[in-house]
Amino acid sequence: MKFLEDRIIKDGVVRAGNVLKVDCFLNHQMDISLFQEMAAEWKKRFADKKINKILTIEASGIAIACIAATAFDNCPVVFAKKTESLNVDGPVYSSKVTSFTKKRTYDVFVSRKYLNPGDRVLIVDDFLAVGSALNGLIDIVEQSGATVAGLGIAIEKGFQGGGDSLRAKGFQLESLAIVEKLDAENNTIEFRKE
Ligand code: 5GP
Repeated sequence: MKFLEDRIIKDGVVRAGNVLKVDCFLNHQMDISLFQEMAAEWKKRFADKKINKILTIEASGIAIACIAATAFDNCPVVFAKKTESLNVDGPVYSSKVTSFTKKRTYDVFVSRKYLNPGDRVLIVDDFLAVGSALNGLIDIVEQSGATVAGLGIAIEKGFQGGGDSLRAKGFQLESLAIVEKLDAENNTIEFRKE
């Protein structure tokens, strides 16, 4: 999506270790008009998917998912919680996620009350790198018997492979910007050509 690529070029900062910092518009200070454009784009791409629930993971996915829900009839948004030791009241679905930026493994969980077999779930997140977060969320949806109706990502780092392996498994993955190369020395960013 051109609008997101333009914004990444304008405001993104490349950090060592293949990290792209976009915290002035995506995951610290948040540009709600941009989120609304992203939501409208996902609505177009998932128009026929009968989505009735959006699932994300705390923390950065939550705001994006809430604005996305406004394009899907204000459907409920559920976020997977992270905890280092799984010690929660009530039955939950859980999975393990390794954080790309923090290099730690967490249990993530969702209460069984909030995912049901009839649900058609759009999974949303800010970034996709190697795919640990998305795979954890997919695992949780599949445990519940609900259907993964689509995957909506703001920025995919295509060179880290997570996206292509999910496409190969048959998921409809719609990333609004796909970065192919990050150069921290020169602060340059290259996008995947269509
Ligand atoms: P994955 O699980 O696909 O390896 O990484 C995705 C998660 O790691 C996202 O939820 C995101 O929060 C974080 N992440 C991965 N790469 C980056 C990055 O380059 N910049 C930022 N800000 N977060 C990232």
